[in-house]
Amino acid sequence: MVERPASVVRELVDNALDSGARQITVRLLAGGVRLIAVEDDGCGIPREELPVALRRHATSKITDLHDLETVATMGFRGEALAAIASVSETSILSRPAGQESAYLLDARSGELRPAARNQGTTVEVKELFFSTPARRKFLKTDATELAHCIESVRRHALARPDVGFAIWHEGKLAEQWRAATGTPEEAISSRLADVISDKFVSNSVTVNHWAGPVHVTGRAGIPDAARSRPDQQFCYVNGRFVRDKVLTHAARAAYEDVLHGTKQPIFALYIEIDPARVDVNVHPTKIEVRFRDSREVHQAVRHAIENALATPRAAAVVEAAA
Ligand code: ADP
Ligand code: MG
Repeated sequence: MVERPASVVRELVDNALDSGARQITVRLLAGGVRLIAVEDDGCGIPREELPVALRRHATSKITDLHDLETVATMGFRGEALAAIASVSETSILSRPAGQESAYLLDARSGELRPAARNQGTTVEVKELFFSTPARRKFLKTDATELAHCIESVRRHALARPDVGFAIWHEGKLAEQWRAATGTPEEAISSRLADVISDKFVSNSVTVNHWAGPVHVTGRAGIPDAARSRPDQQFCYVNGRFVRDKVLTHAARAAYEDVLHGTKQPIFALYIEIDPARVDVNVHPTKIEVRFRDSREVHQAVRHAIENALATPRAAAVVEAAA
């Protein structure tokens, strides 16, 4: 489950977002191998719950039977921190609103002591795989691990334009994306411009399409913006980044008549669907999904893009780009 620093970053940023953070800062040393620290201004963890947070299957996110539905849709719960702590030196520093001070829990020793911090949580993960040299050996260069970590935050950042993100590596600011404002459509466009490029936005059109229980929004690139590699294709299902054949095939199909050869379209698509119609538990990294009715989703995505590309606005974008 913990494959490399980027998998740790993904889980910690996930937790920070779940805690309601408005600003998330990631600090890395040696591509994340020596240190991954994720700092948030979310709800924090009460002193007495800190040891519980590190216990396997101990999640605060399932409170009643109804929430079991959430387990089915969001993946297994309450495993990430325990798994991470088992292969690193982990500590959690946290302070919820109304608690007189912050507390620091050292996972290895179990020591819990008062410390200083504003409301929120900082999880520090040091010396990843220090006790499993065989796994450490599989890590690539620091630069490569850093690139994967940044990619992981990038995916979260595209899902949550309302949250600010910063990534520091070796004490230098590597990336910073400020919280975007405006309508959801404006916020997404501004975040896409920051995280990918202004060109991505100026060479694409708005997608906004309802098909039965499926709502597809986002941006689809004009055919001229297509690339030789599929490296600018982002799909989200209910706010989670996914890689899915049904979705990429549907997008591909939408461009069939306007895109020739092996050119790869650019797009960022946000699919909202009744959680009961999608299963995200098929893969431990939670990047893959299984739709109950994949034809329904395929058609929704295909029509969403086809419609977006057929608007007068799309013609104007094509003209401006020519
Ligand atoms: P899960 O996120 O699936 O519940 P985790 O192992 O990732 O499981 O986290 C365990 C618990 O620790 C969470 O349910 C939550 O209560 C708490 N927690 C972890 N990180 C944070 C954070 N950044 N802010 C607030 N609570 C957190
Ligand atoms: Mg989690």
